[in-house]
Amino acid sequence: MHGLMMDMPLLITSIIQHAERVNGDQEIVSVTRDNPRHRYTYREAFERSRQLANAISPWGLQRGDRIGTLAWNDYRHLETYYASACSGYVCHTINPRLFPEQLVYIINHAEDRYVFLDPDFVPLAEKLAPQCPGVEGWIVLTSAQHMPETTLPNAMCYETLIEGVSSDFEWPELDERDACALCYTSGTTGNPKGVLYSHRSTMLHAYATMMPDAMGLSASDVVLPIVPMFHVNAWGNPYSCPMAGSKLVFPGNKMGDGETLANLINEEQVTMSAGVPTVWLALLAHLKATEKQVESLKRVVVGGAACPLAIAEQFDAYGVVARVGWGMTEMSPLGTINASDTQRERFSEEDFSRLRLKAGRAIFGVEMKIVDEEGQELPWDGKAFGALKVRGPWICSGYFKRDADGAHEEAGWFETGDVATIDPEGYMAITDRTKDVIKSGGEWISSIELENVAMSHPKVAEAAVIGHYHPKWSERPLLIVVRKGDGQDLAADDMLGWFEGKVATWWKPDAVEFVDELPHGATGKIHKVSLREQFKDYSFPDQ
Ligand code: AMP
Repeated sequence: MHGLMMDMPLLITSIIQHAERVNGDQEIVSVTRDNPRHRYTYREAFERSRQLANAISPWGLQRGDRIGTLAWNDYRHLETYYASACSGYVCHTINPRLFPEQLVYIINHAEDRYVFLDPDFVPLAEKLAPQCPGVEGWIVLTSAQHMPETTLPNAMCYETLIEGVSSDFEWPELDERDACALCYTSGTTGNPKGVLYSHRSTMLHAYATMMPDAMGLSASDVVLPIVPMFHVNAWGNPYSCPMAGSKLVFPGNKMGDGETLANLINEEQVTMSAGVPTVWLALLAHLKATEKQVESLKRVVVGGAACPLAIAEQFDAYGVVARVGWGMTEMSPLGTINASDTQRERFSEEDFSRLRLKAGRAIFGVEMKIVDEEGQELPWDGKAFGALKVRGPWICSGYFKRDADGAHEEAGWFETGDVATIDPEGYMAITDRTKDVIKSGGEWISSIELENVAMSHPKVAEAAVIGHYHPKWSERPLLIVVRKGDGQDLAADDMLGWFEGKVATWWKPDAVEFVDELPHGATGKIHKVSLREQFKDYSFPDQ
């Protein structure tokens, strides 16, 4: 017997309708090229989304057609998200930091019919356009006054496109399983793979991320999503914030600029923010150099890569709780979050320092397990390492226009490519990417744990550990370090000595190399493939 409840589809269209009615006066603030501090309300945002939906309706797009975006976090990008997806099209967010050949591949693979782009990316798009003949028009997200000269075919100005267009628009009734957004993973090998989100998965994910022990969003929050809208939909903030009624502050192209971030936090009274470790390092360095405070900021989510203890502890000093989150493009992205701060009194100082860096516990809706090389499930004892698999309603069941792949070999589970431990309380810790794990004499060493120890040294700005060929052990850890400006006197012996007593003796890196900078990939993470390439001819000193 079915229940007698209304069978209403979960559509992101309902977010607009809700935010307009219930939180219509809440503000959205953006940094854009044509305005360093644009501000308006949810009501105006969604009115303009309807204008845009009307403006593009004569273009002959069919349900499910893709509209690309090459854009920063700002209000016009938000309007495009909703106008495209709620019209029944798919908003394909493109990461401009990918290599040009990858960009050409994904625009063609996605069959984007139009691309909305920030003026910053016009020169890039002009190079791509001849190789993307399927794109029928390029819409520059700016005003007529700031519209650049361009050779892009069928170039349009966004503000001109919607100017004077009626905002009366009936959103179509869609199926909740219809696709609403597409994002390609920035994999380091092979072609990027498309992850196709549905209205339903996006709604459920947004609900889950709002929970108190996740991002804990409310109408009194002011949220600064630093994680890009082209990287897994800014971890769902463009959906969860209008649902909760939180004020949104978008940093535009200034997301890596510590000074702009500090000013936005203080002037807009930001309470919560989300980003990868690299952006936090930029913010914290700026705060330290200028002795500024960030009094309104209560918590930040640190995800996308392991969070060094130094970041968490520096945030402590500013009265900000740093919560580690883990997820993937394939998971919308949130899988786990570490809210051990809410139970701080249960742990000693030392235990808390260890626990707080773990990736955290699964949020409701995500199931996980770790398995050995034979696929046998491993215990949740905090010690056994295994391949991490997940399942849930916002986890991808396959890649866009691609045949079955290794990640979905076990029916109903997705293999994350991460290696992890899970402790008896359900706290998961990522020890490596499967391909980054260091296998020394047949035993696994966690590169992430070694990086965390290195990063806790006061003279270290950034550190990475890679497995490097060793004739006896097959691989041994090689530590690569960027010293802080005032830490140039840090010597190899001091650095290696720092590991004494902090990790098992056989885990200690065999050598350290100092470099001026580490290579970063398109989402700000350390690019270990390039590092391995850079050090491929290296020999350990004892060889
Ligand atoms: P992406 O799909 O680009 O978001 O990358 C997802 C990958 O980033 C995961 O599979 C992990 O390898 C890594 N990652 C994300 N969050 C964390 C975290 N908190 N700790 C360690 N690695 C992480």
